[in-house]
Amino acid sequence: MEKGQSFKTITEPAKKIRIFREADVIVVGGGPGGVGAAIAAARAGADTVLIERYGHLGGMATGGLVNIIPNLGDIYGKQHIFGLCQELIDRLDARQAASYPEKKDWGTTDRKIVERYLDANLRHFYVRLDPKGKEIVLYTALVDPEVMKDELNTMVTEAGAKVLLHSWGTAPVMDGNTVKGVIFESKSGRQAILGKVIIDSTGDGDLLPQVGAEYISKIDPALRISHLCFCFWIVNVDIEKVDEFKLSHPQKHEELMQELTSLSGFPFYFKTLLKTQEGVIWFHPHLECSSQTDVEEMTRVDITSRKRALITWEFLKKYVPGFGKSFMMLTAPQLGTTGGRRIVGEYMLTEEDMNRDEPFEDTVVVFADNDRGELSLKHPEMYIPYRSLVPLKIDGLLVACRAFSSDESVNNVFNLIPHCLCFGQAAGTAAALAIDSDVSVRNVDYGALRNSLIKQGVNLPGVKTVDKPTLSREKV
Ligand SMILES: Cc1cc2nc3c(=O)[nH]c(=O)nc-3n(C[C@H](O)[C@H](O)[C@H](O)COP(=O)(O)OP(=O)(O)OC[C@H]3O[C@@H](n4cnc5c(N)ncnc54)[C@H](O)[C@@H]3O)c2cc1C
Repeated sequence: MEKGQSFKTITEPAKKIRIFREADVIVVGGGPGGVGAAIAAARAGADTVLIERYGHLGGMATGGLVNIIPNLGDIYGKQHIFGLCQELIDRLDARQAASYPEKKDWGTTDRKIVERYLDANLRHFYVRLDPKGKEIVLYTALVDPEVMKDELNTMVTEAGAKVLLHSWGTAPVMDGNTVKGVIFESKSGRQAILGKVIIDSTGDGDLLPQVGAEYISKIDPALRISHLCFCFWIVNVDIEKVDEFKLSHPQKHEELMQELTSLSGFPFYFKTLLKTQEGVIWFHPHLECSSQTDVEEMTRVDITSRKRALITWEFLKKYVPGFGKSFMMLTAPQLGTTGGRRIVGEYMLTEEDMNRDEPFEDTVVVFADNDRGELSLKHPEMYIPYRSLVPLKIDGLLVACRAFSSDESVNNVFNLIPHCLCFGQAAGTAAALAIDSDVSVRNVDYGALRNSLIKQGVNLPGVKTVDKPTLSREKV
């Protein structure tokens, strides 16, 4: 139930439930934020349990069919995101499950390379304008979500964390303002896990209303993060034939796409660049909605979008050469959620911070800022303080997912897969450190936290990174 709503109620009878386990760190939600947190906490020696409601890890990045890890480097070709995120990409790469521009091409204006990404409709993820207005290529990776599910299982369990799949974290265990554990539901019934630090990585900040934390859920409907999405794959497409048709009959193709739109179909799709996914195209339609956490609204969007996805496939198969033998392979098991609740933390990141070029004393990660046009050229780096993961007033809790403490303009740019993996890595490391040094997560020593992250390969201010910018920032 959201703040300010009132309903008729019943009182649940109090009952004793089994304590399934005690742990140091409990992570609720196994998306990019949650896996980052669980791996980091477990590697740092904390006894860690990860609870995930579905049968796989990865959240939107796998079950949501959102399989692009963008903004790893900035417009100047400089890599910013290293650490666990880069490790994951390397591990996927070793399994032919990742595709990205060669390092020498980060920041290139070479038309052949730029065109490769434009042709796949992947401009938004791979191509930006440099200070001279020329199109350049970014360091972004595209990954295979099925291999990623398996690789994440391996990484989390290798780190020593206990994973509980098919388990919904439903309620916190509270002692005053301190979170002491989580109640979860599964086919084994309702059980509790008690822990020293609880990390909310549900993406939506599911624990926030229940622990009594201050949070924000209002989002401007004009922003990307106000949408629900319904992603799906059509496979066995003869892409060459589709391209030939588009080239030889541009007007006919355009008319068909207009007709598809008028039938409520989705005309925009991405072509995969993975060699192992020939003939696959993906759709990521964004859908306006009144709430991303209201069950009735989610149901409405799911039902109507499924119909629209089938309308799309049937139309393409019937009218567009190349789709004749295609079939609808998969609709995302998880409805795409882009925003949700956001914690009010010890530090709330605002639009002003995006134009700030000074690191914080508790900076735990530096992101590439690529999505704000001219402003990104002037401010290609964004500093994230640890305090944006620490809720006000509530103890024993960290937030490591897209629910980090940020206004909607910051969240709209920095809540993507690589960002959430980094929040997770910082939160998991901080949780283990707090337990080790017997302090609350609020009072973690920033220096010790940063040193530990640096040792893990995270790029932090004051540490030399591997790549020199290909262009000078002075030219802006
Ligand atoms: C259509 C679409 C396209 C996008 N495109 C991209 C893109 O190309 N690249 C990119 O980087 N980002 C993209 N994003 C954004 C990105 O996917 C998310 O912002 C990112 O995945 C957020 O990570 P997270 O860990 O915060 O949350 P999520 O990925 O949502 O993961 C949350 C996890 O917690 C689990 N969970 C939730 N509630 C509970 C509970 N109560 N108990 C137990 N488990 C729970 C969920 O099942 C899930 O596994 C896109 C999003 C959408 C919807």
